[in-house]
Amino acid sequence: TGTLMQGRRGLIMGVANDRSIAWAIARAVAAQGAELAFTYQGEALEKRVRPLAASVQSDIVLPCDVSSDEDMDRAFAVLAEKWGKLDFLVHAIGFADKQFLRGRFIDTPREAFLQALDISCYSFAAAGRRAAAMMREGGSLLTLSYLGAEKWVPHYNVMGVAKAALEASVRYMAADLGPDGVRVNAISAGPIKTLAASGIGDFRYILKWNQYNAPMQRNVTLDEVGGAGLYLLSPLSTGVTGEVHHVDCGYHVIGMKHPDAPDL
Ligand code: NAD
Repeated sequence: TGTLMQGRRGLIMGVANDRSIAWAIARAVAAQGAELAFTYQGEALEKRVRPLAASVQSDIVLPCDVSSDEDMDRAFAVLAEKWGKLDFLVHAIGFADKQFLRGRFIDTPREAFLQALDISCYSFAAAGRRAAAMMREGGSLLTLSYLGAEKWVPHYNVMGVAKAALEASVRYMAADLGPDGVRVNAISAGPIKTLAASGIGDFRYILKWNQYNAPMQRNVTLDEVGGAGLYLLSPLSTGVTGEVHHVDCGYHVIGMKHPDAPDL
C-alpha cells in the first residue's frame, strides 16, 4: 500500500467478478489510496460487484449497459452529482457474440460486427467523452486491448477488428483531450483466463502457445496488469498518452515459434 493515488477519484467499468482485469486494476489503485466508483452490466452482476466494491470502501455501484446512451447518461449524471470531479476512468469492456469467435472472420454477419464494434470500441469514446467533461484538473483514461488488434490470432475474428479500431480510438482521443491535460492509453494484455476469454474458441490453446513462446516463458498475471494500470492512471505516467502498452511477458515481439517449445 502507498499514497500514489491519494485524493484521486476514478470510475471502473467492466468488473464481472474477482477474475476481471477491471478488478485487478481497481485493487491496485485502491491500495494506493484511490477512491472508486463502479459500473456493472445487468442485475445478475450487481450482487458480484457490490461486495467487491465494499471491500475497497466504495458504495457507488451503478448499472450501465454501454450499448445504451440512456444508461451512460444516467450513470455519469449520478457520478457528477456525487463527486463533481473525476480523475480517471478504466474501460475494461468487450463483447462479441461467441458464435462468431470461431471459424472465419469473413463470415461475420453485419449485426454481430456492429454489436462487437459498438460495445468493444465505441463505448470507450462514449464513456471517455462523458468522463473527460468531469476532469477539470486533467485526468487519465485507460482501456484494454489485445494482440489480435495487430496480428491474426485464431478465433479472435471480429474482436480483433474491434480492438484495432479501439487502439486507433486511443490515438484520436489522446489528440482530442491532450490540450485539457487528459491522457488516453491502452494496455494490450496477454491472455488471462477470465469470463470474457472463455467465450473465445480454443482459449486454452492460446494460453499454452503464449506460455511456451513468450520471452518470459509464462503467462502474465492479473496483478501484473493491475500494476501497469496503476502506472498509467497515476502521476508516474504524466508524459504518456496515445500509447498501447504491452503487458504480455514479451509475447508481442515474437515472430516465430520457439525451437524449444513443445508441439501443441
Ligand atoms: P471480464 O468478462 O471479466 O470483463 C468483461 C466485462 O465486459 C464484463 O464485466 C462485462 O459485464 C462487460 N460488458 C460486456 N458487455 C457489456 C455491455 N454491453 N455494457 C457494459 N459492460 C459490458 O473479462 P476481462 O478479460 O477482464 O475483459 C476486460 C477487457 O480486457 C476486455 O476489453 C477484454 O477484451 C480485454 N482483454 C482481455 C484479455 C484476456 O485474455 N482476458 C486479454 C487482453 C484484453
